[in-house]
Amino acid sequence: MNAAPADQIRLLDLQALDTRLGQLAHKRTTLPEHAEIASLEADLTQHRDLLVAAQTEESDTAREQTKAEQDVDQVRQRAARDQQRLDTGVGMSAKDLENLQREVASLAKRQGDLEDVVLEVMERRESAQERVTELTGRVESVQAKVNDAVARRDAAVAEIDAEAASVTKEREIVSASVPADLLKLYDRLREKQGGIGAARLNQRRCEGCRLELDITELNEVRAAAPDQVVRCENCSRILVRTSESGL
Ligand SMILES: [Zn+2]
Repeated sequence: MNAAPADQIRLLDLQALDTRLGQLAHKRTTLPEHAEIASLEADLTQHRDLLVAAQTEESDTAREQTKAEQDVDQVRQRAARDQQRLDTGVGMSAKDLENLQREVASLAKRQGDLEDVVLEVMERRESAQERVTELTGRVESVQAKVNDAVARRDAAVAEIDAEAASVTKEREIVSASVPADLLKLYDRLREKQGGIGAARLNQRRCEGCRLELDITELNEVRAAAPDQVVRCENCSRILVRTSESGL
């Protein structure tokens, strides 16, 4: 393939733009914010789960407390009725009175036990409420960190995208000035060779694969006409000759 030396040199400009586009794409996917956000969101999910569990515990113990207080009430009312009957004592046998007194005593004991249950439930409810408050605060604080990281990521992505758009525009202009067949070869090689299709021959070294040309290869390159498109024998990339090539 033949191409004017100036067109071959222009491939190096194009390569520089393509390399920059590759760097920008890599930078975009490897922003530290991506990992930071993923880790914070995992943290957030965990804290939200703990919060839901604490809220469930809180509402369960609230129901339990209501039930325990109703139990106490029932016993208290029954004891009051019994006490009233004892106070009047009308038409009761001695046996009945004795039974009733025994029941009042047993109800008092039962009421005390049920009141202990109420206290125990209230303690559990209070600690659940404390946990809800604490976890609500933690969820809010992690959410704020997530928001901050997302804002930083979005700003970094926007900056990268703006630069990529401007480099892409520049690439369109440069690539339009490169002959179609040379551009096609360059694009094909770039795709096959890890993003580099054209390399400068610098001080006898291919800047694509970093290998120094041996004497036979150098002689071939020296013998090639300036408008002949030469390729590196090692990496097959287009070798662009400049005044620094060491020929
Ligand atoms: Zn090479």
